[in-house]
Amino acid sequence: MSLMNTDLHSSLKKYFGFSKFKGLQEDVIQNILSGNDTFVIMPTGGGKSLCYQLPAIMEEGTAIVVSPLIALMKNQVDAIRGISEQHGIAHVLNSSLTKTEVRQVKEDITKGVTKLLYVAPESLTKEENVDFLKNVKLSFVAVDEAHCISEWGHDFRPEYRNLRGIINRLGDNIPIIGLTATATPKVQEDIIKNLGMTDAKVFKASFNRPNLFYEVRPKTKDVDADIIRFVKQNQGKSGIIYCLSRKRVEELAQVLQVNGVSAVPYHAGFDAKTRSKYQDMFLMEEVDVVVATIAFGMGIDKPDVRFVIHHDIPKSIESYYQETGRAGRDGGEGHCLAYYAYKDVEKLEKFMSGKPVAEQEIGNALLQEIVAYAETSMSRRKFILHYFGEDFDEENGEGADMDDNSRNPKPKEEAKEQVVK
Ligand code: ADP
Ligand code: MG
Repeated sequence: MSLMNTDLHSSLKKYFGFSKFKGLQEDVIQNILSGNDTFVIMPTGGGKSLCYQLPAIMEEGTAIVVSPLIALMKNQVDAIRGISEQHGIAHVLNSSLTKTEVRQVKEDITKGVTKLLYVAPESLTKEENVDFLKNVKLSFVAVDEAHCISEWGHDFRPEYRNLRGIINRLGDNIPIIGLTATATPKVQEDIIKNLGMTDAKVFKASFNRPNLFYEVRPKTKDVDADIIRFVKQNQGKSGIIYCLSRKRVEELAQVLQVNGVSAVPYHAGFDAKTRSKYQDMFLMEEVDVVVATIAFGMGIDKPDVRFVIHHDIPKSIESYYQETGRAGRDGGEGHCLAYYAYKDVEKLEKFMSGKPVAEQEIGNALLQEIVAYAETSMSRRKFILHYFGEDFDEENGEGADMDDNSRNPKPKEEAKEQVVK
């Protein structure tokens, strides 16, 4: 089935209220509507959900959406119902539903009302659900956050490995749509292999964030003073400072407060009430700075974060990209500053030493890449994008002069000596 562009646009307007597609959305949707397997790689915020939501609404039958987080699913279902003003159009099927609720969901699916059925992989593996779903009309299966299938991704979920087998049981030739914001070639290979989608058409958006400025500074014992100076030079602007440990988070937040910077700490050791209080203070701009562990940030959408500082080097380029990606969402400036000392790398290696060997090997390989990033004298943007399998023209590409190395090229040897080992 191929649709005229005007139909697509009017449906986009009708169901989502948007007048234009973003990036590759329209091509992706055309491909899904023609019944092909589709692989979508777009950065966070790129608009991946709409790529399966719109065709699901337009096609006959129900689309199954596999997603790892119940909270994420609930948000999406509420949003879809809000726009469409149609109750049964989207449902979540999970273990928290009562028997009556499950019956209602199944009724809506059988009647053909439900266009989107969100499930966690562990619900999809349940026999009773497989038995039900193989007897209803399905349009396609979308696997969101598809990197969960790979041990090379940042969020490996073993249950994702069973998906292909289950999808086979649901019917013949059900199209699969895989979606992820993880751009590393290794993870992509894993997804294609495990979901058996070698014939899928791949849509990959650029991961370049031209408005972000990347900088690495050697980490000395004066790192706190350096951070205070940086924050004071950026007074009134919103920023996130990531630290590895909870203890460091609390210490640094206090040091900042003592020095007249309005800052709050955030880590998973605080109770839910305290966490949401600090988070709100940051979002409502009652404070400028949040000092946090990586527990902070998932789903935080503050468009005008002007800097992201890493007090400690993160565990992979992937994590660094995600965490710095919270800066400059509005397109305005975003300064990404990382402090680097080799002894911090050794600390991260030590953390891993208790884990299974396979996991350690992967962890160490990822760590070597971020070390190479910290020590490189080439364009940092080129380095990051190369890691994601993307070419970047460091002379004329968008954001070509937006990193320390490109602004102030250094002879290689000198750059190395500056790094504190
Ligand atoms: P991703 O899953 O890729 O991280 P989302 O699907 O959550 O991104 O979408 C990010 C934001 O972009 C959402 O607020 C969504 O409403 C918005 N969005 C998606 N498509 C469009 C569009 N065509 N026009 C305007 N906004 C859009
Ligand atoms: Mg998403």
